[in-house]
Amino acid sequence: MSLSFFVGEENYSFERKIIIVSSLIVSFTALIATFVNIYIGLNAIINFASISGLIVYTLFYFLARITDKEILLKWVVSLISLLFLNIVWYLNYFSNGPSNFLFLVYCAFIIFVWDKKKILFFSVLIIVNITALFLFEIYFPDSVMSYPSAFSRKVDIYVGLIISIAIIIIYTLAAKKNYTTQYLKARRADDLKSAFLANMTHEIRTPLNSIAGFSSLIVNDNLPLEKKKRFAEIISINTQYLSSLVDDILDTSRIESNQLSLHVKECNISELFSRLKEEFKHEIENLGKPISLKSNLSSENLTIYTDCKRLEQILRNLINNAIKFTREGEISFGCYEKNNDLLFFVKDTGIGIKKEDESKIFNRFSRINDKNDLENLYSGTGIGLSLSKELVNLMDGKIWVESEYGKGSDFYFTLPRLKMELHFNNN
Ligand code: ADP
Repeated sequence: MSLSFFVGEENYSFERKIIIVSSLIVSFTALIATFVNIYIGLNAIINFASISGLIVYTLFYFLARITDKEILLKWVVSLISLLFLNIVWYLNYFSNGPSNFLFLVYCAFIIFVWDKKKILFFSVLIIVNITALFLFEIYFPDSVMSYPSAFSRKVDIYVGLIISIAIIIIYTLAAKKNYTTQYLKARRADDLKSAFLANMTHEIRTPLNSIAGFSSLIVNDNLPLEKKKRFAEIISINTQYLSSLVDDILDTSRIESNQLSLHVKECNISELFSRLKEEFKHEIENLGKPISLKSNLSSENLTIYTDCKRLEQILRNLINNAIKFTREGEISFGCYEKNNDLLFFVKDTGIGIKKEDESKIFNRFSRINDKNDLENLYSGTGIGLSLSKELVNLMDGKIWVESEYGKGSDFYFTLPRLKMELHFNNN
């Protein structure tokens, strides 16, 4: 059983994880403390305190795993913990007991869960609190109870010290792990962005050169009409490519800033498929690749309520990739009903994807090229699949790939067949 089972979701904030782990440790410690206290014969009030600690922190643990009011949770846990510290200090023989260590652990906790201003606020609070405890101990020396024996004091102090050290180690390790993961993530994002920019230059320059070159040739009056037509076609293909590249980049940034909205309406899948088939057949012919293109529909006149433009964009992207990464054989795309969803697929007999790369290809700017195989160096920016994934997610679906390296890839995505009324209510 891994630690994540106790901590919960991966995407929890670092602060929330610290609260979850701390609550778990405190309730576990309170449980042990209850047994130790009974064993060394401390009084009933102390047992009462440790049992309340057990209950309160178990509650915090579950609260931290379910609540969406993280700030409130942080305030409640921080303030109640300080209150508990004072009770523990009072019951555990003031400065004779192990409470001093616990104040240090509390400081570490505050530093990990709060930001600058609040840390300052809690630091002042802790210092005022400790000064008050000091004055209390000076002016009311008779209130300090004494340990039943020197042995029980030693056990209490050392157990307290060990627990405090353990918690500090856990905090520091968690912080170090968090820092390292964030740092590596940032570095990878940076590397990917640099690679993306380098690719982009190439991806933009190639069609631009072609447009510039053929535009200057086409104005030649002596050029036969056939050639003029061919050149115009090349210019048009490259312009389309450039425009879809710019669209992809804009969509990526729209998604990043949560500004991409869907326009849901009834889409006729059969119509869309026959249009795509005709268009891509023509493209494959132009490329001169020995590839046959097939489309499959489970029933005629299939319709779905979704954003038709985005659905087409995803299919186009997958079919374009299939053509790009297939030298010969067959590409098929289709769709059938599965429970309440429509399952779309695009299959090819191309180069395939290694198992270890299957999860990477949906990451932004991620391109998998076998550097040793010069034949396999394909052009691309690495945003197509990440954009498709974001769009499918936005449309409440799922996208995945099943592939055999060297044999071909099957891309699948689902979209819910929502009822018309639902969408009208939402819009
Ligand atoms: P791009 O194609 O512009 O590089 P994508 O995000 O569309 O970016 O694809 C990312 C990577 O996934 C590609 O570089 C390629 O390595 C791999 N890939 C995508 N589709 C296929 C496919 N049909 N067959 C093999 N590899 C593919």
